[in-house]
Amino acid sequence: MKKVLSFDVDQTLNVAKTPITDEVAKLLISCLNNFEICPISGQKFDQFLIQIVDRLVDNGVKPAELTHLHLFVAQGTQYYRYVPTGDTYNPNDWQQVYNFPLTAEQVAKITAALSQAAQELNHWEEASLAEGDEIIENRLSQVTFSALGQKATTEEKYAWDPDHKKREAIVARAKELAPEFDYEIGGTTSINAFVPGMNKVFGMTHLMEELNVQKSDILYFGDMTQPGGNDYPVVQMGVQTITVRNHEDTSFALRGILGVL
Ligand SMILES: [Mg+2]
Repeated sequence: MKKVLSFDVDQTLNVAKTPITDEVAKLLISCLNNFEICPISGQKFDQFLIQIVDRLVDNGVKPAELTHLHLFVAQGTQYYRYVPTGDTYNPNDWQQVYNFPLTAEQVAKITAALSQAAQELNHWEEASLAEGDEIIENRLSQVTFSALGQKATTEEKYAWDPDHKKREAIVARAKELAPEFDYEIGGTTSINAFVPGMNKVFGMTHLMEELNVQKSDILYFGDMTQPGGNDYPVVQMGVQTITVRNHEDTSFALRGILGVL
């Protein structure tokens, strides 16, 4: 039997950038009693709390159950685990186990390449940004381009680049401008840029080390498992993968897995 269930977040556990549903939360709590649960995503730690952990708390997760939840933040270049200090949930009980940040120089180079590429291709949507929002965000272990910022509506994001063509063009140009970095398409409007090797393979490799498990102990769920997608490196490294279209597919698979335990 698998020991670890690992999940991409956006479009796998939730509607991109929104909190998980009660249904997904309840299924994950059941999973915590049977598996080590490892979400891995390009997002920041605070988004893992908002989108996943707070929803588990709302649905009655116990601190002891949270010790089986392992947060692989920024594609697993940061790892957090829960070490309870009491009987009630305390957000301060999350401990960072490791962190591999980009240098300031690397962040500056990636930011320049992505903004120049998007501007040349007329995909720099600064005029439509909400106040205080930004297109390029330093997520410490990677730099993320979000074409419409963080605050655009889900509908707007879905409509922006459904066939990935805009982002593929930006990636191709950014790769010419700053070839020393890797670029991956993720979510609905995002491109993640990072030092080669600092992708989900890095996260999965550290996951195996930290949890002391083998590749064959892990089942991974993702929506971008096609070549060029941000879940593809996990497929390539030989981890057994379930491709989902959305969180409904993931719920369906989890009900199946929990039903046969
Ligand atoms: Mg995804």
